[in-house]
Amino acid sequence: MAKISINLSDGTVKQEEKKDIIVGIDLGTTNSLVAYMEAGNAVAVSGQDGKNTLVPSVVHFSEGDTVLVGDAAKAFLLKQPQNTIYSVKRLMGKSYQDIAKAGQYLGYEIIDEDTESLVKIRVRDKFYSPVELSAKILAELKNRIENTLDQPISKAVITVPAYFNDAQRQATRDAGKLAGLDVLRIVNEPTAASLAYGIGLSQDESKTIAVYDLGGGTFDISVLQIQGGIFEVLSTNGDTLLGGDDFDRAIIDYWLEEYNIEKNILTDNKELGQSFRIAAEEAKKTLSTQDQYTGTAGGQTVNLNKAQFESLVKPLIDKTLVSCKNALSDAQLTVDKIDSVIMVGGSTRVPAVKKAVSAYFQQEVNDKLNPDEVVALGAAIQADILAGNNKDLLLIDITPLSLGIETMGGLMDTIIPRNTKVPAKAGRQYTTSVDGQKNLQVSVYQGERDLVADNRKLGEFILRGIPPMPAGIPKIDIQFILDADGILTVKASELRSGVEQSIQVKSAYGISEEDMARMLLDSIQNAEADMKVRALLEARNEANNIILSADKFLQQNATILNEEETTRTIELTNALREAVKGEDKDRINLAMEELNKYTTPLAHRAMDVNIGEAIKGKKL
Ligand code: ADP
Ligand code: MG
Repeated sequence: MAKISINLSDGTVKQEEKKDIIVGIDLGTTNSLVAYMEAGNAVAVSGQDGKNTLVPSVVHFSEGDTVLVGDAAKAFLLKQPQNTIYSVKRLMGKSYQDIAKAGQYLGYEIIDEDTESLVKIRVRDKFYSPVELSAKILAELKNRIENTLDQPISKAVITVPAYFNDAQRQATRDAGKLAGLDVLRIVNEPTAASLAYGIGLSQDESKTIAVYDLGGGTFDISVLQIQGGIFEVLSTNGDTLLGGDDFDRAIIDYWLEEYNIEKNILTDNKELGQSFRIAAEEAKKTLSTQDQYTGTAGGQTVNLNKAQFESLVKPLIDKTLVSCKNALSDAQLTVDKIDSVIMVGGSTRVPAVKKAVSAYFQQEVNDKLNPDEVVALGAAIQADILAGNNKDLLLIDITPLSLGIETMGGLMDTIIPRNTKVPAKAGRQYTTSVDGQKNLQVSVYQGERDLVADNRKLGEFILRGIPPMPAGIPKIDIQFILDADGILTVKASELRSGVEQSIQVKSAYGISEEDMARMLLDSIQNAEADMKVRALLEARNEANNIILSADKFLQQNATILNEEETTRTIELTNALREAVKGEDKDRINLAMEELNKYTTPLAHRAMDVNIGEAIKGKKL
């Protein structure tokens, strides 16, 4: 299969001999950074101060919609939580239902809906997707490296946690595209960390390693098997709500107790809360290299020594060791089978963490590299391998363009992303949008644009004979199987009834390398416009579903609702109908939110009544 190289700034196709710089990006929950290869070494890029390589993963929207990213945005975290978005990585590729299940608290507003739609974040009267917000962080990193190297950068490798699913990986790719980056590969964070330590770089190496990653708000432990340059994730474990921020909180709680300060004072007085947080993090960092910390927080002198700190965080560290134990047992391994342990994440700078991990795995840990840079450094090494600069590693065949199907409203739903190793197999489940729908058309497309109309159609077929069911009930499984010669088999089956249909198409037939390069360039140049269209179409689809359910709800519960409730529900539904006709996605989202807010308590009441009646036997 083809390997193409294109200059995204002017659209010319490059000859193989001219090498691009491909950068490595660690898009973290707390901090992000970019690295590249310079004279055979991976280096992390710092900001204008020439020191700090980390960009806090924080986006702030000030009045007039100026967007700040990084340290400048972080300054607003406590003062203006509703306009300052952090931890957006936690929301990537997630639906409202996923978030509700995790039940986590974030200081900004996530629209509260109990649906399978992807989450949106409301800032004043505008709605943003996690992809858009992550794109702002990536754009900042792109800017940073372009300023440093004084040349345009358009290709990147981005890392994600090993446990990220397809939707989360695709969201990360989309964020890259929106930031003007061609994402050549999504790499697992532990794999990148391993590469940074030179583990897995040679073909004849075979090893089992553990990667211990304690960041700001998350803890991940991954067990990897490396053989012949291939990394296999044997198990992952961890805690998505445990990290260095908890160390800081433990210190604050200790000080409040020690200096007789009421906890509420910190929540009421945000400035004071901020100063305690800053002092606590400073204390923690100081105690990684010294035995004693003295500072001030809100005018109060605060003290902490290493022994006190270590006893505060011991329960937290112990918790991570339980995860390590679970990861090993899931991988069906014992400690003595682990050849290397790699330390990742800023919080592994804490000596007590290193000591505990080293004692648990009964060996010295790898901690020579900066733990908060190691993932980005490894990503840069992976990028360099992709650029063909490392002769020892074979370049594998990849699919040059994404493959997917058309979904509601003419949107492209990518199933096998571009640059996936071939042979490849991937699938996804869909459902019907109309009650009693018997047939489903499956149209297969190739390309990078958000609307199928802008992509290349490879074929289509109709899955017939779906037994009549209400919309949303059938489970239609679509599988894409791509062989090494580029032959794509698409299979659709309705899982409840077993009806099945498939086609085979030649994905590379009748398309030149120039065509592919052009398609790729178009997708990056139109990323923003495409994303807007997608957001509008998705909002409309979602709104239409909600209008349908509101109508059904009104019909079925006529006796439960009083006149005012009925009138108001009809009004709000009509307002949403009007909004759907327009082109303003924020207006649609606002109207949806209002209708949802108003009808949720009514729906709960109706459900209680209906359950009550069912118990009485009326309906059974
Ligand atoms: P993430 O992977 O979640 O984006 P990082 O790997 O950048 O996060 O880790 C950030 C965390 O590391 C923060 O909680 C920060 O306070 C902590 N940290 C950074 N430096 C030190 C240090 N010297 N000692 C202890 N903790 C540190
Ligand atoms: Mg990290």
